[in-house]
Amino acid sequence: MIKPFYSIIVPVYNEEENIQILNEEIVQVIKSLGKPFEIIYIDDGSQDRSLEVLKELKSKTPEIKIIVFEKNCGQSAAIDAGFRKSQGDIVITIDADLQNDPNDIPLLIDALKEGDAAIGWRASRKDSLKKKITSKLGNFFRNLFLGEKIHDTGCSLKAFKRETIERLKIFKGMHRFLPALVKMEGYKVIEVKVDHRPRIHGKTKYGFFDRFLSATPDLFAVMWMKRRVVPYKIKEEI
Ligand code: UDP
Ligand code: MG
Repeated sequence: MIKPFYSIIVPVYNEEENIQILNEEIVQVIKSLGKPFEIIYIDDGSQDRSLEVLKELKSKTPEIKIIVFEKNCGQSAAIDAGFRKSQGDIVITIDADLQNDPNDIPLLIDALKEGDAAIGWRASRKDSLKKKITSKLGNFFRNLFLGEKIHDTGCSLKAFKRETIERLKIFKGMHRFLPALVKMEGYKVIEVKVDHRPRIHGKTKYGFFDRFLSATPDLFAVMWMKRRVVPYKIKEEI
């Protein structure tokens, strides 16, 4: 099989009603870019029919690869498994719940001309007020403690040049810190305003506890990492 140029990574946890529509949207957009691609779905221990739907899709679209976790391990683990399996020069992450719009993928890819990673910024979020407030607070504290100015670190729609993801340190909740983790390795991160859609099918997997309280100790770990990171670049290998 030809080496893919684009890898799309999609973590899936109980998204049976969303995946088929999402897959159609992704395939349409990525095919229009005219380069080989792969779509990697990670079934993160779904208890619904997600895996059956994914297998059905794979039988029609050879570019699809499926990683099946033995049990639910969380979004960060799923993204990490996708990163490791991916072969593309450009690696894109997107949620499975149709809240991100695949039509924004070309915008992110385009932004990689200016930076090493491009991250979505949901300027007009279609979420509940409670979720919007929690997310605003999360972004505020992350920026305050990490000395960043990132509007929306939690938006899953992101595009990375392959090298930027090679040294990521995986931990539960990592997905909320990806821009800071990439930046601390010396890479340039660009924000791109993207569309956001309401969740029609299925439920959010996070409540207040995960979104805010469990992210707080992570913030201190990332602060520590930022202070201690050694972003070395190899000049030559002889
Ligand atoms: N997800 C996952 N494992 C989990 C929780 C979520 O793979 O334990 C996936 C989920 O299926 C979706 C994405 O991660 O594709 C984001 O989850 P969700 O939409 O619930 O998060 P929110 O948009 O509410 O922050
Ligand atoms: Mg969502």
